[in-house]
Amino acid sequence: MIGVLALQGDFAAHTKAFGAVEVRLPDEIDRCDTLILPGGESTTMLKLMEGTRIEEAIQSLALRGGKILGTCAGAILLAKEVHPAGQRSLDLIDITIERNSYGRQLESFDTPLGPFIRAPRITRVGEGVEVLKEWEGDPVLLRQGNITVATYHPELAAEPSLTI
Ligand code: GLN
Repeated sequence: MIGVLALQGDFAAHTKAFGAVEVRLPDEIDRCDTLILPGGESTTMLKLMEGTRIEEAIQSLALRGGKILGTCAGAILLAKEVHPAGQRSLDLIDITIERNSYGRQLESFDTPLGPFIRAPRITRVGEGVEVLKEWEGDPVLLRQGNITVATYHPELAAEPSLTI
């Protein structure tokens, strides 16, 4: 089963684009073989996960080889390092990611891959992380083993180009 973590953000668009079902409880995550962490607001998602077993359930899915896709805020949650520093993350992919990195003018812009919406930028790609797509010189779709992250919104692309 493909689950989409439905705490906050644009999880509904992912259910359509990837045939995912909404999950909110750790037990539901335990039943997934694939999980999507959607775009939205990473700080809000972290707050909503506090005091639940959700982070442990995600870590254990990763350990048992389940696939995890993080889009935008979801990518921030999965990164090893987040800038500005101090934001907690799951450390499941060896990248450094900078939140809201495209500045005011370009806060949001559309591309054939999908829109970038207050998107983060990946500023360091660790060894063992594969860059699958770039946009104007920036790595925007990356994979390390069973973990994939996109800094844009593939679920909102006119023609979906990403399969998980
Ligand atoms: N700016 C958001 C964050 O820092 C991410 C934006 C998005 O998911 N579209 O969490």
